[in-house]
Amino acid sequence: MLDLRGVGPELARRLGALDIRTPRDLAATYPRDYKDWRRPAPIAEIVRGALARYGRPQEPESSEEITVARIVRVNEFRARIPIVSADVEDATGKLKATWFGRHRFAGRLHPGDRIFIYGRAQAKRTRGAVGVELNVLQHRSLAEDEEYEGAIVPVYRATKDLSSRTIATIVERNLGALETFVRDVLPPALLKKHRFGPLRQAWRELHRPTTPEGAAAARERVVYEEFFGIALAAALKRARRIAEGGALRLEAPPGLLDEFEREVGLRLTGAQRRVIEQLWNDMARPAAMNRLLQGDVGSGKTLVAAAAIVLAARNGVQSALMAPTEILAAQHAHKLAPLLLPFGIRVDALFGSLGARDRERTRARLASGECDLAIGTHALIVEGVEFANLGLAVIDEQHRFGVAQRAALRSKSRAPHTLHMTATPIPRTLAQTKYADLDLSVIDEMPPGRTPVETYVLRESRKSLAYDFVRKHVARGRQAFVVAPAIDESEAALTSAIAELDVLRRDVFPDLRVALVHGRMPWREKEAVMERFVRGEVDVLTATTVVEVGVDIPNASVMVILDAHRYGLAQLHQLRGRVGRGAARSYCLVISPDEQGDVERLQVLAETNDGFKIAEEDLRLRGEGEFAGTLQAGGSGGLLGSVVGDFALYMRAKADADALVGADPNLARPEHRALREILDEEATARAMLVSS
Ligand code: ADP
Ligand code: MG
Repeated sequence: MLDLRGVGPELARRLGALDIRTPRDLAATYPRDYKDWRRPAPIAEIVRGALARYGRPQEPESSEEITVARIVRVNEFRARIPIVSADVEDATGKLKATWFGRHRFAGRLHPGDRIFIYGRAQAKRTRGAVGVELNVLQHRSLAEDEEYEGAIVPVYRATKDLSSRTIATIVERNLGALETFVRDVLPPALLKKHRFGPLRQAWRELHRPTTPEGAAAARERVVYEEFFGIALAAALKRARRIAEGGALRLEAPPGLLDEFEREVGLRLTGAQRRVIEQLWNDMARPAAMNRLLQGDVGSGKTLVAAAAIVLAARNGVQSALMAPTEILAAQHAHKLAPLLLPFGIRVDALFGSLGARDRERTRARLASGECDLAIGTHALIVEGVEFANLGLAVIDEQHRFGVAQRAALRSKSRAPHTLHMTATPIPRTLAQTKYADLDLSVIDEMPPGRTPVETYVLRESRKSLAYDFVRKHVARGRQAFVVAPAIDESEAALTSAIAELDVLRRDVFPDLRVALVHGRMPWREKEAVMERFVRGEVDVLTATTVVEVGVDIPNASVMVILDAHRYGLAQLHQLRGRVGRGAARSYCLVISPDEQGDVERLQVLAETNDGFKIAEEDLRLRGEGEFAGTLQAGGSGGLLGSVVGDFALYMRAKADADALVGADPNLARPEHRALREILDEEATARAMLVSS
C-alpha cells in the first residue's frame, strides 16, 4: 500500500479497516454511486425548489444541491454544537449557508469570497418568516478568476475516519499504477459479441466518469466480467463432474412410475411426476446427479425422494437420507418405512442419541448391505459409518447443513447421485448464482385437498383475541401451536417460550393440556412431547422454532407466532406450514409488538401463500447481503454487480460461460488461457459461491 502516492502508514491503516490492504484491493474497489457536480444550480432555483417542498410531508424535506456563490456576511453562534452561518448570493438570489460543528471554518470564510458549496437545502420557519437554508456538507474556496470545473464525483464506501473524498483522491493520484491490476481476460469473440472495449477503459470511466451514461456503460462492462467469472467457475465445476462420470447408471424398468404410484396409494401431482422423471433421468446417466429440489412445505417432496430411493433399490444400491434434526429424521423414518415396504426396502435409522449397541447394529447393517436406506442426522457422516454400496444421497433441508457436511455424506461412496431438498424457496435470482452448479427442480403444485392457511396479523395488545381463537378451536377437538422466539429470559425484550408456557398454563388455558418443546431439551424428552402432541394428548404446544421444519401434525389447525417481527418472511411462511396439513381449514395468527411498524411487512403473509413470492419479497426487503456467502467473491467490497438488480446481465454472462465451457471444457484453447489463469488465482474466492 505504501508504494502508492499519498498513502502513509496512517492512511494504510484506515484503508485496512475497509479490507483494502493491497493496491490490487484498491483497484477492485469501485464507487457505489456518483454525484453529478457538473452544473452548479442558480440560487434562485434552489430556493424555489425548497419552498415548493415546504409543508408537504409527502416530499423529502431537503435536497442535495451544489452552487457557486459569493459570501455576503459571516455569523458565528456558540451553541452546544457551534454553528457558523453565512449569507451567500449569486446573480439570481440569496440564501443562508450553515456549517454545523465547524467553528474552525469561521476564520476562513470572508465576505467577498467566492465559494463552491455542496449541501442539503431545506426551507425553515425562523422568527415568523420562511427562509431557505443550505446545510453545507462540503465547500471549496474559488479564486476570483477561477472557473468552476464541474465533474461527476465518485462516491466510495467510506468509514467514520476515511471519507469517500480521500479514497477518490488516492485513486485519482494512482490511476496509472492501479490500472496495471486490470487485465482483459475475455476472449475476443465475447468482446466482439458485446461490443466491449478494453476493460481498462471501463475501469477508468468507473472511477472518473465523463458522463452518467459513460459510467453506466462502464459499470455494465465490469459487472458482466464479474458475473462471467462466477458463471464460468460453476460451469467448469459442472463439466468436471459430468466428465468424471463414475456414477452408477440407475435405470428405471418400464412401468416403474405407475407401479410406484399404485404402491404408495396416492395420485402423484403433475409437478411430482415431472420432478420424479427429472431425477430418474439424471440417475440413469454415468455422471452423478446433483440436483436441488425446491418445494413449499407440504408440496410432497418426501414422496419424490421416495421415488428416487425406489429406483436406487431396484438397481441394487443403497440410499441415505440425512435430515438436520432428530425429530425430522424420525418422522421421515416413520413415514418412509411403511411406504417403502412393498418395494422390499429395508430401512434403518441412525441418530446421535441411539444407544451404542443400536448404533453398532445399524452400522454393521449399512456396511454389509443388509440395510437399503439409512435415515439419520449428522450421525450418518461421522467417521466409521460405511456403506456397502451407497448410490443415492438425499439431503433434506439442505441449507441447514454446511458445504463440508454435504460433501462428507457424498464421500461415503464414489460419485453417488445427490438430491438436495429445501422447503425454503430460493428466489430464482439467488438460486442461479448461489447454487450455480446444481440443476434445479421445483414442485410448484400442492397435493389436492389442502386449503391454504389463512393468516392474520395482530398487534401485541390484541394477543388475547388470538388465545380466544385457540380456545374455540381446541373446543372443536383441534390442536394449536404457540411459537415464541426465545427459550428463557436471556433475551430480555422477547417473549420466552418458558415464560409463555407459565402464563398459558396458569392464566390463559388452566383447563387445557399445555406442553412445551424447545431446542435445548434432550432429544428423548422432545420426542416424547411431540409424540404426545401427535397422539392428541396435548391441546396447545408451546414451542421455539424447533417445530419449524418438517413436523407433520394434521390435526393442528391454529398457529400463533409471538414476536413475529423477529423473523424473516420466508421463515414465518415455513413456520405456518406446520398447520394446514390436514383437510381442515387452518389459521396462522402473527403477532407483532404495538410500537414497531412491522405490520406492513408481515401483511405480505396474509396476502399470499406462494413461497417464492414471499422469498422474493424477503430478498427485496432485507437485501441480498442477508444471504451470507452469496456475494463474497470479487474485490474487498464484494461484487460491484448485484445478482438481484443485475439479474438479466447475470443470465447473459451465464449463457456465454455455459457455451464457452461446452465448446472448450478444459479451457485449452489459447484464447482462453487468460481465463484459466484468473480462475486459478481466484479459485478459492469463487468456490465460495458454489454450494457443493
Ligand atoms: P414436504 O416434505 O414437501 O413438506 P411431504 O412430502 O411431507 O411434504 O408431504 C406432505 C403431506 O402431503 C404428506 O402427508 C404426504 O403424504 C401428502 N402427499 C404428498 N404427495 C401427495 C399426493 N400426490 N397426493 C396426496 N397427498 C400427498
Ligand atoms: Mg419434508
